[in-house]
Amino acid sequence: MTVSEAAGTLIGFTSSRKGNDMALNETLLRRLIETPGVSGREDQQREIAREELGDLTDEVRTDVMGSVIGTKRGSDDVRVMIAAHTDEIGFLVKYIDDKGFLRLQTLGGHDPANMVSQRVLVTTSDGEPLRGALQPSRKPPHLSHGEEQKPPKADEFYVDLGMDAETVKEKVHVGDYVVMDRTLEKVGETYVGKAMDDRVGVFVMYEALRAMGDHQATIFAAATSQEEVGLRGAEASGSALKPTVVVALDVTLAMDVPGGGNENTITELGKGVAIKIMDGYSISHPKLVDHLRAIAEREDIPYQMEILPAGGTDAGGVQRLHGGIPAVTLSIPCRYVHTPNEMVRSTDVEAAITLLARYLEEASDADYDL
Ligand SMILES: [Zn+2]
Repeated sequence: MTVSEAAGTLIGFTSSRKGNDMALNETLLRRLIETPGVSGREDQQREIAREELGDLTDEVRTDVMGSVIGTKRGSDDVRVMIAAHTDEIGFLVKYIDDKGFLRLQTLGGHDPANMVSQRVLVTTSDGEPLRGALQPSRKPPHLSHGEEQKPPKADEFYVDLGMDAETVKEKVHVGDYVVMDRTLEKVGETYVGKAMDDRVGVFVMYEALRAMGDHQATIFAAATSQEEVGLRGAEASGSALKPTVVVALDVTLAMDVPGGGNENTITELGKGVAIKIMDGYSISHPKLVDHLRAIAEREDIPYQMEILPAGGTDAGGVQRLHGGIPAVTLSIPCRYVHTPNEMVRSTDVEAAITLLARYLEEASDADYDL
């Protein structure tokens, strides 16, 4: 079967295939998930972005904050910025003790409960990945004599590289970056891995550019930096690009699990792409939300509406620039966000790709005046 034909079928969501997991471009998704890149150190992700956007857009450049922007030139003055962030939550090495154990500075929002006894990858300044054990400094049950031990704090963790101090000090330096060491795996009807936030958003951006047809609007595809530390890359690139619309792509909470449910569900896996109404950083432009919902209805794309009480996306970093810009986020429902077990359903990812592709083809027809 040829790509365009495949793209046609994928996008059409023919009834026989709706709800069935479809073959995602797994090679690209795996490369995005398994290539390390923390806030401010997205170098390896930039290489992928330049490759992909080099094939999919007319011009590619990298800005001072490290965001990579691909421009697909249009024929009118509508300027759509798509923003998906390449940084994952992680750590920087802040100290190496005399035994060669590494102490870490967190980057992004971590819950120490998800850090216990994980394996990590340290990327050294010469790019060598070193595997290590991430452990909290606490007594094992054998030595705690039943005394209650408090849950560990993030700065009580260290990395054991299983090497002598001299070798560690030769290879590792303060400022080297550390991520969770996990591969992308199929789990039932889902994909699981670390850094789904927001590599699956970056994936959706590339695949939608690949799947879309003709367009009038100019499209800026921004693989942004430093989102996890405050939407910094999007703010800088948004101020330079002066878009007339911004569509962010990111994961959102799927609390269709024990401890969630009913009014605390936010979104559910398998119910389609989520069109965000609001989160802790921004209230989406109502006419943009309506436009996306209308496309999803018209094209029979599975979707759900999203209200997230806290947290934000790159849309919040761009919305208030230049006197205000219509902004929205298309979210991929994800269980266990900011853990190494982030879980998404491929039909939701497909729905996000298709809705974005359809939107980009008709972005010029819209009027968002309030
Ligand atoms: Zn994110």
